[in-house]
Amino acid sequence: MKQKLGMLSLGCPRNLVDAESLLARLKNKGYSITEDISGADIALVNTCAFIDEAKRESVEAILELIELKKEGKLKKIVVCGCLAQRYRHLNRHLPEVDAFVGSPGLDRRTGRFPLTPRHYAYLKICEGCVNSCSYCVIPRIKGKLVSLDEETVIRKARCFNRQKISELNIIGQDITGFGLDSCGESRLSGVLRKIIRNTPDVGWIRLLYLNPERISDDLLDLISSHERVCKYIDLPVQHINDRILRLMNRKATKKGIISLIEKIRKKIPGVCLRTSLIAGFPSETDKEFKELLGFIKEIKFERLGAFTYSREEGTPAYNLKGQLSRRLKEERLGAIMELQQGIAAQVNAGFLNKRLRVLIEDEQDGSYTGRSQADAPEVDGLVYVNSARRLKPGDFTDVMVTDTLEYDLVGEAI
Ligand code: SF4
Repeated sequence: MKQKLGMLSLGCPRNLVDAESLLARLKNKGYSITEDISGADIALVNTCAFIDEAKRESVEAILELIELKKEGKLKKIVVCGCLAQRYRHLNRHLPEVDAFVGSPGLDRRTGRFPLTPRHYAYLKICEGCVNSCSYCVIPRIKGKLVSLDEETVIRKARCFNRQKISELNIIGQDITGFGLDSCGESRLSGVLRKIIRNTPDVGWIRLLYLNPERISDDLLDLISSHERVCKYIDLPVQHINDRILRLMNRKATKKGIISLIEKIRKKIPGVCLRTSLIAGFPSETDKEFKELLGFIKEIKFERLGAFTYSREEGTPAYNLKGQLSRRLKEERLGAIMELQQGIAAQVNAGFLNKRLRVLIEDEQDGSYTGRSQADAPEVDGLVYVNSARRLKPGDFTDVMVTDTLEYDLVGEAI
């Protein structure tokens, strides 16, 4: 009898892609895959160790599985992913876990066993990272940048096209680095052009995680001129003060970031800009933090995520002087989120009485939720849709926005 295997994938969509391709490989090896982890013979946890919160979540998940194993509901537990890769001594502390294995990594051959809903998918075009931000453990965990070759990317894209996926998300730690390892230059716009050409039956194509240092005019023109490419740019800037940016080992400067944002908004009218920021980086002064708040107020990012600085062993920032107290970091994070709350409400108010194209995500008892091009799966807001017509996940419909909530919208299908 086939052994039943259940997967729990934690962390970001990039981890999810690894989990899906690992499951596809295991399915080919004869395991049967179950969605109910508590009814599995083997539980596989794909962990994340990016920041403290992610590590905590991973350990809690493992402990819950250990409980299930003690109750006899699970036979074996296997832990893979970033946490297992980073903390190789974990087996000493968690003897109930049967095996620790590293990151599944970039797979060039197999397909995926979908953990994401079938109407959208992720295509990971590179693994590792070419940058060395001083606070980040990713290059240590995932290694140097490795880009898929273009032929493989296109083969995978064609496969999603055959499945008539409604949305294809192109991901990597920093996809602007695509090709730097193999060709010595960023080939993102070149490969995007080919992806567009080879996926006529895919509804939307979304680019996730673009490093501000390598966004070319060519790439912006491509995003602007193709209707199917989401007018959505995820541009993690992390901070705006030049001294902090230097300490973070980010190459972008305040002037460069502001002029890039102006250029993006000019070239792509109606673009949704998302960023992420770090609150309480070592030695960040009150004045520098206020500068960051001023920048948020001025730019009014349509979407924004922020985190407190997490002091990670093995990173250069770990040894920086002036580590801030947890309380101060949290206070600063709170101030950013409070400011952004007002901005998000203003941004949403701008959608009122406007017509939006919405991708239906879910249906429950005749009511629908979906996303517009301004919302990436799993991280951004939702559109609640009333419809007299029957819709199903993966459908596109035009919606008239009739009400706005803090982060979400409400509308009628038309
Ligand atoms: S761009 Fe910087 S923060 Fe992002 S994964 Fe690479 S090193 Fe880490």
